[in-house]
Amino acid sequence: MRLILLGPPGAGKGTQAVVLSEELKIPHISTGDIFRANIKEGTPLGILAKSYIDSGKLVPDDVTVDIVGSRLNDEDCRNGFIMDGFPRTIPQAQLFDKMLKECHTSVDAVINITADDSVIVRRLSGRRMCQCGRTYHVENNPPKIEGICDVCGSKLYIRDDDKEETIKERLRTYREQTSPLVDYYMKKGLLLNFDGTKPIEVTTREILDSLKK
Ligand SMILES: [Zn+2]
Repeated sequence: MRLILLGPPGAGKGTQAVVLSEELKIPHISTGDIFRANIKEGTPLGILAKSYIDSGKLVPDDVTVDIVGSRLNDEDCRNGFIMDGFPRTIPQAQLFDKMLKECHTSVDAVINITADDSVIVRRLSGRRMCQCGRTYHVENNPPKIEGICDVCGSKLYIRDDDKEETIKERLRTYREQTSPLVDYYMKKGLLLNFDGTKPIEVTTREILDSLKK
């Protein structure tokens, strides 16, 4: 099964990707990981991508699609994949469709995990970290004493990424980037929407059930 996963930060996309990969026995392909691997191994595509990144430019869509394509040639992708973090733009989606078509295949479904911004902001902005590595959440997993680590007694802090303004900015970027893709796949009849605010295992079950149909 060839799947694309869409969803804002904080909607449980990463967790779903891992569980679905196990259940469906297809690899979870994070495009960030493939980029890093190609750059680290110094492959021709990795060197090319790095030249753009180092000069502060966006990696062109055709290079991104080639990097994804090179990963899909691996043996473990024979029965499909769960694509996470790609495509990000309409040109990428079009190039990806073309590439799959050349291999006589296509995307089977696009899993769109949704959640209201307010829910995501509450989820992410409630995270509290400790220098000892423990993490807490003010609602779901609070420390015994507010603002203090249960284990080491240090003062808890909020990561920059978890600050409300940062989260709102990331969500705005996500919506701007993704809404054209949501339309694109909806018109193709591939889009399946799921509520990311339900418990993780409920959403997993709903996704698996709807993929069977
Ligand atoms: Zn601690």
